[in-house]
Amino acid sequence: MYETLALYIDGEFVSGEGRKTEEVTNPSTLDVLGHLPHANKADLDRALAAAARAFQTWRHSSPMQRSEILRKVGQLSRDRAQEIGRNMTLDQGKPLAESVGEIMTCSDHADWHAEECRRIYGRIITPRSPEIRQMVLREPIGVCAAFTPWNFPYNQAIRKVCAAIGAGCTIILKGPEDSPSAVMAIARLFHDAGLPPGVLNIVWGVPSEVSDYLIRSPIVRKVSFTGSVPVGKHIASLAGAHMKRVTMELGGHSPVIVFEDADIDRAAKQLARFKVRNAGQVCISPTRFYVHDNVYDQFLETFVNTLKTVKVGDGLDPETQMGPLAHARRVPTMTKFLDNARERGGKIVLGGEPIAGKGHFFSPTVVTDLPEDSMLMTEEPFGPIAPISRFSDTDDVIRRANSLPFGLASYVFTNSLQTATKASNNIEAGMVNINHFGSALPETPFGGVKDSGIGSEGGLETFDGYLVTKFVTHI
Ligand code: NAD
Repeated sequence: MYETLALYIDGEFVSGEGRKTEEVTNPSTLDVLGHLPHANKADLDRALAAAARAFQTWRHSSPMQRSEILRKVGQLSRDRAQEIGRNMTLDQGKPLAESVGEIMTCSDHADWHAEECRRIYGRIITPRSPEIRQMVLREPIGVCAAFTPWNFPYNQAIRKVCAAIGAGCTIILKGPEDSPSAVMAIARLFHDAGLPPGVLNIVWGVPSEVSDYLIRSPIVRKVSFTGSVPVGKHIASLAGAHMKRVTMELGGHSPVIVFEDADIDRAAKQLARFKVRNAGQVCISPTRFYVHDNVYDQFLETFVNTLKTVKVGDGLDPETQMGPLAHARRVPTMTKFLDNARERGGKIVLGGEPIAGKGHFFSPTVVTDLPEDSMLMTEEPFGPIAPISRFSDTDDVIRRANSLPFGLASYVFTNSLQTATKASNNIEAGMVNINHFGSALPETPFGGVKDSGIGSEGGLETFDGYLVTKFVTHI
């Protein structure tokens, strides 16, 4: 049994009634899993009206009430992790253990927002004369519109929903049409946890049409998007034209720097396993590898040998370590990157081809000897391809790490405190991971700089994008 697909508007699950639908398929087997209803204009208007009406009450709800609902969501999410995870593997492709792991981490996100929303404080500013009182209030911004992608369908949606609802906002979320079950599950969790109607609404449709309609609506006060840089720039411009606050979690091109004093064997093995997580469809995936000349051969050999052992297959098979690409359009994209790599003189050391047979499978791939301006070294592949190059000078490799317009995650492997400090001080990125992969916990801020985005999700910063500051003074 797969998830029942519907819109969720004003506390009701709705489908059918002549709405257009879209097929949802399993990327491993190409089986049709279900039909996703698209919201028509009347549905979007109803969602906007419900969110606006619900905001009038929800904005005054006590943080204790919000916290209690978020706590219940965290518990229900844990209780249902196997079922939600299985559905996510069916429509997204990732191995079941990764899906269930995503649900469990996100249950912690709900708990963490439940705790932190009780600590949204204002402040008193000492006045210039004693009869005056000056207060700073932090109020929910209003109705939010959020757009989330297909690579971590549960994680990216629940973070936005918990932050908006915890701050006292209401939200209309358009999830990923390719992999919708996780967002459907989120609607059911909040519904079953007793969230009042209209506070959360879920819609589906043609992404550009839905986002255009919602962002232009005067009801929407804030826009949050996770996805690619070009789409993010388009959405941010539209939001800017209507003076709406944005949070943008966009693509990256994470540099990995392996210094000669690192534990090379450990770094190569861990990086190879992390590279194929979610088939490389991760915005913080290690992307460009710079390995010190003196340890390059050792690193490359261990990295390639580790990747050779990765079992690629249907995510429901417990042996599988890497699933398919999430949808058909990703396969020609990978091929395009590799055609360019070949043309530019790159050496394909491992893989390089789609895997024959049913499903959108692509082999883990390693490319070396690429020029700095080749496609793989400058554009986000968002797949299981690792370009590896050499360096010999620390300042020069930091310059190369900073040479692209992106700045999301970065990875440094070294056993020198001085090198680690120099790298973390100088790399232009929202996140610097030294000797491990520590990003994306509920209690730590997640976000990028430069073209990789605006604002943070998680951490103490999580509510910032959903609150406005009001200054009140009286005499
Ligand atoms: P895409 O750029 O077409 O879409 C990316 C996401 O944005 C999808 O979920 C899509 O439904 C949504 N989208 C597209 N146009 C939209 C619009 N006008 N309004 C609202 N939503 C819109 O690319 P794709 O083939 O789906 O994904 C590949 C690229 O997306 C990758 O290269 C990667 O850079 C990026 N991506 C990034 C993340 C991330 O976590 N930052 C997640 C998924 C995809």
